[in-house]
Amino acid sequence: MRSSRSEQRRANIGITKGTTTDGGGLMQALCIYNISVLYLLNTISNEFEPDSESYRATSFLYIYMYTQSHMKDAYTKKLWDIIVVGGGPAGMMAAATAAAKGASVLLLEKNQTLGKKLRITGGGRCNVTNNKTNSREMLAKYKRSGKFLHSTFSQHSVTDTVTWFNERGVELKEENEGRLFPVTDSAETVYETLLTELKETDVTVLGGAVVTAVKKIDSHFLTTTRTEQFRAKKCILATGGTSRPETGSTGDGFTFAKTLGHTIHAHNVALVPVETQERWVKRVSGVSLSDVKLTLTVDGRKQFTQTGKVLFTHSGLSGPTILNMSKQISELLETGTVGLHIKLMSEPDEGSIREKLTELFHAESNKKVCNVLNQLVPTTLAKVVLRLANIDGDTPCHSVRVEEKKRLSSLLFALPLTITGLLGADKAVISSGGVPLTEINPKTMESKKVPGLFLIGDMLDIDRPSGGYSLQLCWTTGFVAGSHAAV
Ligand SMILES: Cc1cc2nc3c(=O)[nH]c(=O)nc-3n(C[C@H](O)[C@H](O)[C@H](O)COP(=O)(O)OP(=O)(O)OC[C@H]3O[C@@H](n4cnc5c(N)ncnc54)[C@H](O)[C@@H]3O)c2cc1C
Repeated sequence: MRSSRSEQRRANIGITKGTTTDGGGLMQALCIYNISVLYLLNTISNEFEPDSESYRATSFLYIYMYTQSHMKDAYTKKLWDIIVVGGGPAGMMAAATAAAKGASVLLLEKNQTLGKKLRITGGGRCNVTNNKTNSREMLAKYKRSGKFLHSTFSQHSVTDTVTWFNERGVELKEENEGRLFPVTDSAETVYETLLTELKETDVTVLGGAVVTAVKKIDSHFLTTTRTEQFRAKKCILATGGTSRPETGSTGDGFTFAKTLGHTIHAHNVALVPVETQERWVKRVSGVSLSDVKLTLTVDGRKQFTQTGKVLFTHSGLSGPTILNMSKQISELLETGTVGLHIKLMSEPDEGSIREKLTELFHAESNKKVCNVLNQLVPTTLAKVVLRLANIDGDTPCHSVRVEEKKRLSSLLFALPLTITGLLGADKAVISSGGVPLTEINPKTMESKKVPGLFLIGDMLDIDRPSGGYSLQLCWTTGFVAGSHAAV
């Protein structure tokens, strides 16, 4: 309760509004105003505690950005050890790691605040990593990139990640399939921890700095924003992929990398929800089913099955299992009409489901069928199933006819849906493609084409499933690039 109120307050103060570093006097005034509001809040309420993480991180950000706007001139004149482009999880980890090793680090972020995508990960709860401490098992999740990542992960593994967060006060808890989340159930905890780390390691952060070009001139990197130019001995590109462009990940880094001589594998959306022909999904939007068997068909022919969690959305289906199947679904969509059947009950076949219904309807014979079916599936879904079976939900169980029971058990055994397509980049969790690993040194994350250039996080062409594997890549590649760039 305490944290949610203070979070709300912080949202009301408008953390994104007062943090720009481009605007001179007006912005400085806004920053001072925001700092004053923070102090005022602190005075009138015990809930926004001066020692709380939120308070510290927020005041740090305002004071910090205020100072930044003052200092900008000095920044353009300085030769930095390292410039990091992109303040997502990979860029923040790289910047803090390099600065902790003594490098002077400038972090340029196009948004007014860092980590916009990070803050919406895991439905706002942030699936930080996956508890696969056996490195062979972990690397297998990255399929053909597993071999490349061997030496990268040997420098910063899942265990190292967990320790890194634990040492900074972030406790993690395990959920299904090894997913690790902060015990606070809030991505803000992870975000604020990274902000504090940037502050404590003395990283200079410029928000609202839209990088438009990165060039290598002699032995230095010249990074141009809309208003300034900054110089550094080394450059780490961490601008992310192309999924959810509203968070800032618009693929700019691919253009910079290409100009610098890299190949870019075509990037497409990956881990993306699907759309269905059936409009009834809207009525059950938000309902999720765990451990259900999903069978994919093309033109009625069975392709493969998968068991896991599925979430109904306004226009179709999402959830970890659907996201992980999305790449195969997109390939199947090229070959014919793709059907998906959801097995709603654990009984092995339709006959056993029918028997179960018979028993249940007998035991509850005077109750309405809708009030009995919801003992088997969520209420809203029960209504949909009854409608699809053409049964009036108010019918008493004893009056449900044999034919009706057959239709019902058939639907509970295999609820049919037709997939019409995948949603676009605006809804994707990650994009596929990017900079090929053959052009990167796995021990350092340094470019083999441009010495002094490092590429990390979602910029790399690495396939992975949902389950914390994407953020783990950011922590690992960010840590390794930061460590080696600082040398
Ligand atoms: C809805 C959603 C939920 C997710 N949940 C999870 C999860 O729970 N667990 C998990 O492991 N993964 C999750 N992911 C994936 C994960 O968020 C990404 O893999 C991760 O954010 C990639 O980090 P990054 O630092 O490489 O890039 P990004 O997070 O994309 O950050 C790149 C940064 O670079 C900045 N930038 C871009 N261009 C420029 C420029 N020209 N100048 C300056 N700055 C620039 C952007 O504004 C952005 O802040 C989720 C993704 C989405 C969309």
